[in-house]
Amino acid sequence: MKITTLKGMHDIKPPEIAVWHWVEKTIREVLEGAFFSELRTPVVEEEALFTRSIGNATEIVEKELYHFTDRKGRKLALRPEGTASIVRSFNEHFATAGGKTHRFYYLGPMFRYERPQQGRYRQFYQMGAEVFGSKDPRTDAELIFLAHEIFKRLKLTTTELQINSLGCKTCRPNFRETLSQFLSSRIQSLCADCQRRIQKNPLRALDCKIPTCIEATAGAPSSLDHLCSDCQTHFEGLQQRLTLLKVPYRIHARLVRGLDYYERTAFEFVNTQLGAQNAVAGGGRYDDLVHDLGGPSTPAVGFAIGMERLVSLVSGYYPVEERRKKIFFACLGSEAQTRMIPHMMELRNLGWATLMSYENESLKSMLRQADRLEVDYTVIVGEEEIRQGLAQVKEMKTTGGQSSVGLADLAGYFLRL
Ligand code: AMP
Repeated sequence: MKITTLKGMHDIKPPEIAVWHWVEKTIREVLEGAFFSELRTPVVEEEALFTRSIGNATEIVEKELYHFTDRKGRKLALRPEGTASIVRSFNEHFATAGGKTHRFYYLGPMFRYERPQQGRYRQFYQMGAEVFGSKDPRTDAELIFLAHEIFKRLKLTTTELQINSLGCKTCRPNFRETLSQFLSSRIQSLCADCQRRIQKNPLRALDCKIPTCIEATAGAPSSLDHLCSDCQTHFEGLQQRLTLLKVPYRIHARLVRGLDYYERTAFEFVNTQLGAQNAVAGGGRYDDLVHDLGGPSTPAVGFAIGMERLVSLVSGYYPVEERRKKIFFACLGSEAQTRMIPHMMELRNLGWATLMSYENESLKSMLRQADRLEVDYTVIVGEEEIRQGLAQVKEMKTTGGQSSVGLADLAGYFLRL
């Protein structure tokens, strides 16, 4: 029986992988240019890391966590997102190492047992950034600016930035209570999930996609009307700095994130071209999480980009110059093959991708293969060329024109192109 990929999981294959490399490289450049360093954490962690941070009453933990017990009976889970692991690692290695602020970025697969659909998978990649040690809303704004800059460099112009403030430990309980009361008064119109959320996690009801719930919560109280003065000042500071940095935004009072640890700033970049799963990136501030996970009280803010969604949006802009130029060596006979090996290796060392067929095929069959490999040039060498110290260089992408080039000058010929 043929074994295939699991539902909701997928292979990232050539030629699409080249777009991934370009997107990853662009994100690294933007983040490293702002003093972020990569931090790689394991895919498997203690389950408690996620239940305690993301929250027991969230969908991610309640319904979507891939969890299991290992051979020693330890309760483990595949990470559903990156922030919790980065915080765990920060507490283990950096929290007491001195330094005012710390900046990390990560890239890797995340796992959520969701109902798969376009743009929503069970294994998907996130690239994210986190800043530890700053409460200042200018830090939130600069982080948002970096995400905006990433999209700009990838020529993605159709994302809208939505921002909100979720309040803090001081003002959120009051908002939660007011919202619970509002939802209770409409309990009959809410779906079963939202009915349960009234007590456990009322904010999530604002994010329910079921039309009857959207209608029933249309006049719901807003967190923005319940902010304490510190949260109010913080939210205003964020907006002022975004304006200064020329990052357009829209205040979206119903924006709540699927993870419980956020407070104050919450934001999403949404894209109109993506259909139902339209969030390309999301993030926010989580000032209590480091402490909640056993570290010293340290404010923090971060975001994560959904890589599959981003790649699908920018693949049309993948620049031709990012592609490595390719040369195929079509050598007729073993003597020609042996003679051309040093030339092939030299060009490879000069940065070209080079390949030779050893299958002793006909020229026609080798040219067909070169076409399939989408090479830029084919170097054709037979007995006659060897005798004359020449190669025929065939241009494969546009004209199909052919030139005779002296073997001694072959590398020089390609360098001059
Ligand atoms: P979150 O960690 O839920 O804040 O998600 C951050 C970003 O990851 C979202 O904006 C999406 O772009 C992406 N994302 C989240 N869940 C999935 C999924 N199941 N499949 C693909 N992308 C996802």
